[in-house]
Formats: sequence, structure tokens, C-alpha cells
Amino acid sequence: MKILLVEDEAKTADYLKQGLSEAGFNVSLARDGLDGLHLALEEDFDLAILDVMLPGLDGWQLLQAMRKQDRNWPVLFLTARDQVQDRVKGLELGADDYLVKPFAFAELLARVRVLSRRGNTTVQDQLSLADLQMDLVAHKVTRHGQRLELTPKEFALLELLLRRKGEVLPRTLIAAQVWDMNFDSDTNVVEVAIRRLRAKVDEAFEPKLIHTVRGMGYLLEDPSQ
Ligand code: CA
Repeated sequence: MKILLVEDEAKTADYLKQGLSEAGFNVSLARDGLDGLHLALEEDFDLAILDVMLPGLDGWQLLQAMRKQDRNWPVLFLTARDQVQDRVKGLELGADDYLVKPFAFAELLARVRVLSRRGNTTVQDQLSLADLQMDLVAHKVTRHGQRLELTPKEFALLELLLRRKGEVLPRTLIAAQVWDMNFDSDTNVVEVAIRRLRAKVDEAFEPKLIHTVRGMGYLLEDPSQ
């Protein structure tokens, strides 16, 4: 799940980005309206979270510009103002939801999950391979009917492997997608995370689903199929 976050308040922006990343979302952050539009035109997202008061373009102008370019992802507005005309204006422009600052992070997360589910029918809420199942909305993973307790990073890593099952994923790609890191040399963090994930997903079950492809990366595959 990729989220475009446009927020100029540094503290809020960093806090939201970190929280959403820990919840397993892949967040791209822009700190003003023009950068936000630039990102929106460059990449594909599942959801946009836009602050209303932004330098450059404000949130409404940004939304209009996005819609004009067929960027029709669900949009959640963050606003410090809780005025009727603001809500009406935003909804007329095609916003999907509102959150008035200050808000609890848990509330934001709940709205994000609802929107990501409702807004785009191509967003899957279930991923599976063999008897391994991931429910993206309930944030739950089971194997052979047993619940697996995963950390947010392990969840994000497994989600990536499931979305691209059958494909060999290089360590650098995994690092970039799950940790938002670009590094060529030190991919030890990926190996450690794969080891932990494997202990939970594969150790007690057959067949083994997570495979190491020497010198290349990792692959999620059901060898019996
Ligand atoms: Ca602002």
C-alpha cells in the first residue's frame, strides 16, 4: 500500500510518516503542495493524505490538479479548521474524508484502512499462498489456520513477498520497499528480517515457502505447485 503524504509541518509530517511506515504502509512524503503534485504525477499511490494549509499549492488546489490528471486515489484531508464550508468545499472537490487536527494516530490509521479498502476496488485486502493467509485490513496473518504474530516490518516484508510471489526479489529492492532505504552494500538488515520471518512462517510448517536464491535474493513460492 503506497500512501502520498503532503504535510508542511515538520513534526507532524515526520510523526505520521514514521507511524504509517511502522503500520506497514509505504509512505512518500512531500513538504509542500508543488512537491506533492510532482510526486503524484510521477508515482502511483493507493491513497493520498493532504494537509489543507500548504505552501505552494494548498490542499484543495493540489486535489484539483491531481483529479485533472486522473489521479483518482482516495483522499483524506487533514485540517486545522473544522468549519462547515471547508468540509463542503473539500467534499465537492472530491475528498473522501476529513480529519480535524489534533487527532489521535489510531484514528488516522482506522480511516486510512477504511479508505484504502473502499476507495479502490483493485486494492486487495487478502493475500495468500498455499495455507498462508494475510488479511491486510485486519492486519492478521495465519498459516494453517494458526495466527502468526509479526512485527510491522515483518508484516510489510511478507506483504511484499506475497504481492510478488513467484518472483525473485533482490535484497536491495526489498530494502528500498520495506525500509525505504537505498543502499548497495549493507543489506544485512534484510537477511536478519528474512531469518526472523522464516522462523515464524516456515519453521513449524510444510512446505517451506520462503526460499533463498543464492547471489540473487529471495522468493516466495509453494514448491508443491
Ligand atoms: Ca499546514
